[in-house]
Amino acid sequence: MPIYEYRCHDCKRRVSIFWRSFSDLESTDATPHCPRCNGTNLTRLISRVAVVRSEDSHLDDLTDPGMLSGLEEDDPKSVARWMRRMSREVDEDLGPEFDEVVDRLEMGESPEDIEAAMPDLAGDAGMQDL
Ligand SMILES: [Zn+2]
Repeated sequence: MPIYEYRCHDCKRRVSIFWRSFSDLESTDATPHCPRCNGTNLTRLISRVAVVRSEDSHLDDLTDPGMLSGLEEDDPKSVARWMRRMSREVDEDLGPEFDEVVDRLEMGESPEDIEAAMPDLAGDAGMQDL
C-alpha cells in the first residue's frame, strides 16, 4: 500500500493519500483527490514515503482513517511520530532514506526542505525497485 504526500493547491494544505495498490496509482484514471477539500489540483511532494505490504491482514488498521486522526500534516514532528509508529507496524526495513526522512522531520524540517535536500526522493525513482 503506497502512501504519497501531496500539496493541495486548492486548500493549500499538505495531505497524505493512501493508495490501495500500485496498480491503482498507475492507472490512468487514478486522480488523487484532496481528503480535505476533494480538490484534484495536487502536486506530489515525496515519492513513496512508505510502502505497506497489503497482504498482511493485521495491517488493516493502517487503512482505517482513524489511524490518521493524530496526524497533523503541517507538523513535521507529528508526521515523524506517525511514520515511526507505522514502520514498527510493518516490521520491515524501510531503508536508510526512510530513516533519514523521519530524522529530518523530527528536526522540524518540512517535507519540501527534505525533498530539496534529498533529490533522489523526487520523481518516480521509488517505483523502480518493485
Ligand atoms: Zn485541498
